[in-house]
Amino acid sequence: MKYCLGIEGTAHTIGAGIVSFEGNVIANEKEVYTSETGMIPTAVAEHHKKYVDEVIEQALKTAKLELQDISLISYSAGPGIAPCLHVASNKAQELGKENNIPVVGINHCVAHLTIGQLSTKMKDPVFLYVAGANTQVICLAGKFRIFGETLDIGLGNALDKFGREKGLGFPAGPKIEQLAKKGKWVDLPYSVKGMDVSFSGIITKASRMQEKIEDVCYSLQETCFAMLTEVAERALAHAERDELCLIGGVGANKRLAAMLNIMCKERGAKFAAVPLDLAGDQGAMIAWQGILEKDKTSEGIRPYERTDDVDVTW
Ligand code: AMP
Ligand code: MG
Repeated sequence: MKYCLGIEGTAHTIGAGIVSFEGNVIANEKEVYTSETGMIPTAVAEHHKKYVDEVIEQALKTAKLELQDISLISYSAGPGIAPCLHVASNKAQELGKENNIPVVGINHCVAHLTIGQLSTKMKDPVFLYVAGANTQVICLAGKFRIFGETLDIGLGNALDKFGREKGLGFPAGPKIEQLAKKGKWVDLPYSVKGMDVSFSGIITKASRMQEKIEDVCYSLQETCFAMLTEVAERALAHAERDELCLIGGVGANKRLAAMLNIMCKERGAKFAAVPLDLAGDQGAMIAWQGILEKDKTSEGIRPYERTDDVDVTW
């Protein structure tokens, strides 16, 4: 049996995952940086340096494997915060050299897509990718094409920004989801432009609102999720697909999944959200993408590489 060790380190998470070449996730360990104020790049990189060996050791232990059993090492080469990317990249190169294992640097966003496809067993879905820094509607047509995206910030970061203003801590998404359960509707702007969305105006407005925090959280979710549901539906129609795959950290939100599920049901499409343990940033998705790109080798980081820059001929 062949295994890939994947090291994730684009932003808040340092993770190590082990996946068999057949696509079974054997281990997936991570340490997530949290703070009251948000992410300071050098502080996050220090966090990752502190935990990188630990998560790798733990992953090997969980998988009951030694480094010598690993056939391939992959790491998140980008996009992401450069000081964090260096931690994952340097560790992958170091382990590769020491143990004579090939190393491949892969695109973190593409890894979110392919682990989504693997875990939901979808054939050719429209992907709704809703994470911290990214919010995009994507489907594979020669390459991963972006049909629509946020014109300013990703929804996860938008929610975290709102959380920072309101003192909810970081990451704020899960806290907002809990508060929203007890909220009722108050008016917020709705911002869809063609296939694109924008969140910063909504966040500014919501941050300044003096209404009950539960009501603001509820309305913020309803508004932003409705916008995503609208563009996801249009993408299904235009691209003539009948599968919608929800991926990225915000995909953990039950209300978002419920809204998308209703829309898909109404048009006879299949809906699935990536399982919770594979939704946020983690090493298993890096390992799986490494396996798909096992014939390539690379070093260094690519902080600004976009999803539609990636050559998908693997
Ligand atoms: P990622 O960049 O894919 O790791 O996703 C991280 C983002 O997901 C952060 O901005 C979190 O606030 C957000 N997030 C995590 N869980 C939830 C949730 N239950 N509801 C909304 N957002 C969430
Ligand atoms: Mg991510």
